[in-house]
Amino acid sequence: MSEEKIIVTSALPYANGPIHLGHLSGAYLPADIYVRYKRLKGTKIIFLCGSDEHGVPITITADKEKVKPQVIIDRYHEINKKAFERFGMSFDIYSRTSLPVHHETSKEFFLEFYKRGILKEKKTQQFYDEKAKMFLPDRYVEGTCPNCGYEEARSDECENCGFLYEPNELKNPKSKITGDTPVLKDTSHWYFPLGDYQKRLEEYVEKMSENFGWKENVVQYCRGWFKEGLQDRAVTRDLDWGIPVPLENSKGKVIYVWFEAVLGYISAAKDLSLKKAEPDLWKEYWQQPETKYIAFIGKDNIVFHCIIFPAMLMAWNDGSKDKFILPQNVPANEFLNFEGKKFSKSRNWGIDVADFLDLFPPDPLRYALAANLPETRDTDFYWKEFQARNNNELADIVGNFINRTLTFIHKHFEGKVPPRRSLTNTDSAMIELLESYPQKVSKYLEYYKIKDGVLEIVNLARACNKYFNDSEPWSTVKKDKDKCGTTLNICVNAIFTLGELFAPILPFSSEKIFKMLNTEKTLWDDCGKSNLMEGHKLNSPEILFQKIEDEAIIKQMKNLNIEGTEGKSVESSTDKLISIEDFNKVELKTAEVISAEKIEKSDKLLKLKIMLDTGERQVIAGIAKNYSPEQILGRKVVIVANLKPAKIMGLESRGMILAVQKNDGSLDILTVDESVKNGTRVK
Ligand SMILES: [Zn+2]
Repeated sequence: MSEEKIIVTSALPYANGPIHLGHLSGAYLPADIYVRYKRLKGTKIIFLCGSDEHGVPITITADKEKVKPQVIIDRYHEINKKAFERFGMSFDIYSRTSLPVHHETSKEFFLEFYKRGILKEKKTQQFYDEKAKMFLPDRYVEGTCPNCGYEEARSDECENCGFLYEPNELKNPKSKITGDTPVLKDTSHWYFPLGDYQKRLEEYVEKMSENFGWKENVVQYCRGWFKEGLQDRAVTRDLDWGIPVPLENSKGKVIYVWFEAVLGYISAAKDLSLKKAEPDLWKEYWQQPETKYIAFIGKDNIVFHCIIFPAMLMAWNDGSKDKFILPQNVPANEFLNFEGKKFSKSRNWGIDVADFLDLFPPDPLRYALAANLPETRDTDFYWKEFQARNNNELADIVGNFINRTLTFIHKHFEGKVPPRRSLTNTDSAMIELLESYPQKVSKYLEYYKIKDGVLEIVNLARACNKYFNDSEPWSTVKKDKDKCGTTLNICVNAIFTLGELFAPILPFSSEKIFKMLNTEKTLWDDCGKSNLMEGHKLNSPEILFQKIEDEAIIKQMKNLNIEGTEGKSVESSTDKLISIEDFNKVELKTAEVISAEKIEKSDKLLKLKIMLDTGERQVIAGIAKNYSPEQILGRKVVIVANLKPAKIMGLESRGMILAVQKNDGSLDILTVDESVKNGTRVK
C-alpha cells in the first residue's frame, strides 16, 4: 500500500444551468479517471466537488423566472448532481456553497484577513435604484452608449462597439429591475491586495512547474498575468444574494463570489467530515504538508486556481499555525467543441449530459471523450466519431475479445478456467506483455496524460485479439486440448487485466467484466499477473457494448442540421433549400483592398476602400481585431456587391466582405489569387 495522500478537486460547476459534454472533458472526466486509478493503486484520496451557488447570473435567472435564487440553485444542483452520478463521477462528496459550513469557512477567511489588516477599503461610485432600494451590479443597468449610441449598453461597457467608460458617462441609464433612472451613489468595498503576493506567486508557479511538470499552457497563462502586474481585487459587492460580509455597517454587502467559490473546496472537505462523522478528516488532508493537492479545471479557470487561490492560502498561512497546502498541479484542459463550433446554450448548439445519457449508456461516452481529451489543444465532439469509437473500438476490439474467450471456455471447458501447461514463445510473450501493462499505463496517468493512457489500453485489447487469432484455439481444441487450455487460461487472465485497466475509464463495463469473471479487482500493480487460477468457475458472458446504428446517429445530426448526413435515410428539409435563381440574386464579386484605416473609438471596425470592375467604393468591416490595416491592404477579397448600403458609426458601407469564424472566435477573410481580375463574379 502506498502512503501517498491526495486531494483531487474538480472545478465547481455554476448552479445556473445544466452541464454539457464540454464541461465533462474539461474538469470532470480526467479527474475521475485519475482518482479511480489512484484508488486502485491504494492511495488515500478524497475527491471533492459541488455546486457554486452565488453570484449575479443566478439572481438574473431568478428575476427572469420571478422566483427566489434558492429555487434556481436547488434545481440545477439536483440536475447536475444526478447527471454526474449517471455519468459515473465518483466524487466522495458533491457539496454546495449555499451550505452553512461554506458560509462559515468563507466568513472565517474574510475576518481573518480583515483582522490582520490585509484587506483595504476603497470608496467608489455605483448606480443605485431608489425604488428597489438597492445598488445595481453592472449587468442590472442599461443605457445608451456614449460612443456609438447603442441603446442596450451596460453600465461601464458597450457590447456593440467594445468601448469602456465610467458609469457616469452612460446616457439615459435605466434600472433593469424597476425601469427607473438610477442615481450614482457613494459606496465602499474591501479589496484583496493580490499584487503584494506577486513575487511569491511567481516563485511558486515556477517551482511547482519545474518539480511537477505543469502543463505549458498553464505556465504561459500565469506568466501572462504576472507580466501585466497583479492588481487589487474587490472582495465585496452590493448585492443581496451571497454570503453576507461579517462586519458592522455592511448591510447589503456580500463576499464577492470569486473569493468564496475557491474556498468551496475546503468547505466540501469539511462537509465530508461532517457526513462521515470524522471531524478532523478535512484537516488530515488540507493541513498536512505531505498531502498532494491536484486541481482539475478548464483553461478559463487558470487564474483562480494558480494565482488567486494560492495567494489567499499564502495570506492565511502567513499568520496561522494551521497551514493549508497549495495546489501541487493544476492540469487545466483546453476546450471541447461540438461538431466544429463552440457549445452555446443560446444558439442551441451542443447536448446536455442528462439528455445524452437518455440516449446512450455512459461508458461509450466516457471512452469517446477520454480518447479525445483537449489536453494540449481544443478538440471536437463529432457524433460520427462517437459512433465509430463505440462500434469499431469498444464493441469490435474490447467486447469481441472478451465475448469470444468466455463463450469458448463455456463451450469447451465447462465454464472453468483451464490449466496452464507448457508455454510456447507466443504464450510467454503474451504473459510478459500483460505483466508490463500496469506500469506502462501508470506512466501516462501519473502525469495526467489520460488520453495516451486510454489509447495504450486499447492497444492491449488489440494485442489480445491477435494472440487469440494466432493461437487458433478453434483448431487446437480438436488436436491438442492442453495447448488450447493454455491459450484460454492466458486469455481469461488477459480479460482480468483489461477489466482492471479499463476500470477508471469504463467503470460500469468493468463491473460487468468482474461479474462475468466471478471475482474482484486486485491492486492496480498486480492486475497483469495470473489472477485466475485453474478450475475457477466463471459466470456466463453477456454483451458489453451494443453497436450504435446509423439511424440513431443520423437522427442527432439532423436535429442540428449538420451537413454531411448524406446517404441512406437522410432527406434534406426542403424548406431550407434555395433555387439557383435565389443564389444568382446574390452578387459575389472579387475586389482589391486599395486603402485601409482604423476608425477612431472602435477596436472592431476598419474603413476600407475597395476596387471593383465598376470603380471603387467604401466598406466598413468588423475585422480590426484580427487584421491591421497593413495586413489587409492589397488583398483580393470576396464581397457581397449588391447588399443594401448601410450606415455604421455614421459611415456609409456598400457591401460586405466574406469571412469565416474559426474555433477560437478569430476571423479569417476569404481571399482569391492575385491574378483574378477585380469584379469577377464568384459562382
Ligand atoms: Zn457603443
